[in-house]
Amino acid sequence: MQRFDTGTDAALALRPDHPLYCFRPEVLKQDAARFMKLFPGETAYAVKTNGEPMVLKTLVEARVKIFDVASPGEFEAVRAASPDAEMLYMHPVKAQSDIRLALETYGIRVMSLDHEDEIAKVLRIVRALDLDPGSISIYVRLQTKGHAMYELSKKFGAAPGHAVELVQRLHRIGFKVGLCFHVGSQVEEAESYEQALKSADWVRNRAGVPLVGLDVGGGFPAVYGHDPNRKAKPMPPLEDLMAELRSNITEWAFDDMPLVAEPGRVVVARAFSLIVRVLLRKGRRLYINDGIWASLSDSWTGKITLPARFIPDPARRIRKGKAENVVPFKVCGATCDSVDILSRPFWLPETVDTGDWIEIGHIGAYSLSLRTRFNGFYPDDFVEVTTPFDGEGADGFASLETMAN
Ligand SMILES: *Cc1c(COP(=O)(O)O)cnc(C)c1O
Repeated sequence: MQRFDTGTDAALALRPDHPLYCFRPEVLKQDAARFMKLFPGETAYAVKTNGEPMVLKTLVEARVKIFDVASPGEFEAVRAASPDAEMLYMHPVKAQSDIRLALETYGIRVMSLDHEDEIAKVLRIVRALDLDPGSISIYVRLQTKGHAMYELSKKFGAAPGHAVELVQRLHRIGFKVGLCFHVGSQVEEAESYEQALKSADWVRNRAGVPLVGLDVGGGFPAVYGHDPNRKAKPMPPLEDLMAELRSNITEWAFDDMPLVAEPGRVVVARAFSLIVRVLLRKGRRLYINDGIWASLSDSWTGKITLPARFIPDPARRIRKGKAENVVPFKVCGATCDSVDILSRPFWLPETVDTGDWIEIGHIGAYSLSLRTRFNGFYPDDFVEVTTPFDGEGADGFASLETMAN
């Protein structure tokens, strides 16, 4: 992979006409280490966030030893990155053949579920393989309520009373039992975790059986852009949120139990940026060569303002407007689909024009993993970059949220 100091250097040297991902392995290692330091338990990276081999390999180098997986494709990707990484199979609703594959071929011994019929499925395979249920930990997934940007609690999780029954049933069969929840993604306040801890405590007290651990899921927020037009509450620093989570864990007396977290976004968001080219400017609209069916669907779903840096093409001699006027541009994606328009504008100098580049920062989470081949577009070019996206100065781009604070 070619290496550059900055994304700007890469754009000016390569003049890419197709989207170009800038991978920052050192940033990824730093962010993984930062999370592991802040969380008082084990860290299991959520592979669905970004399962690229370069990401998994770099995380293994950063001493991440546990991975949260959900499918045979993810089992295989983790195994390829590390022969001895532990995998937690935390998808509550699994295919029977995948349960068998996990237990038999990949030696996975930790799973989650939220229904008695799933217990029956797992038990059938455990019996068929003649395994001791006592060698397997099953985490009962609890329903949660919160205000994540992406609310996932509607889909999975047992209500507290139901969870008590599941815990007791698993215990009677002889499985080791834990509790888990996942409060959503880009959760910018500790309250959602506290609510979930409170509910886990209720289930623990009612169930009255020994628990082997608590898995608090993912959802920890990454830093994105700041939209000057919106009066959103600024996001607290991750250190504050994690300090609050730690004190809630103590308050609800889960600090004497093995803990696991499954961070995705917070670990990998800063590790990639994406250089896109302006294919056409039409007034205050920019048509770019990527979009919601390729790298930008997560920002669209989550209505996230992405930090964007202007990289003017030096070959353009004449420009209209003033470079110091930063204004919002509506951004249209590469496909012919009329919904392929970003939900948030890019804030850029009003001089941006056809042929210029834009480096979109902090897109490591749910960008590469959600790419489709729709309309024949599939960005897949990579370079390595050493300087963090926010280390290059804040000239001419929508400011990062922390910088606006
Ligand atoms: C998606 C997911 C994660 C990771 O979520 P982030 O918001 O990226 O941290 C963790 N655990 C489970 C169960 C998930 O579904």
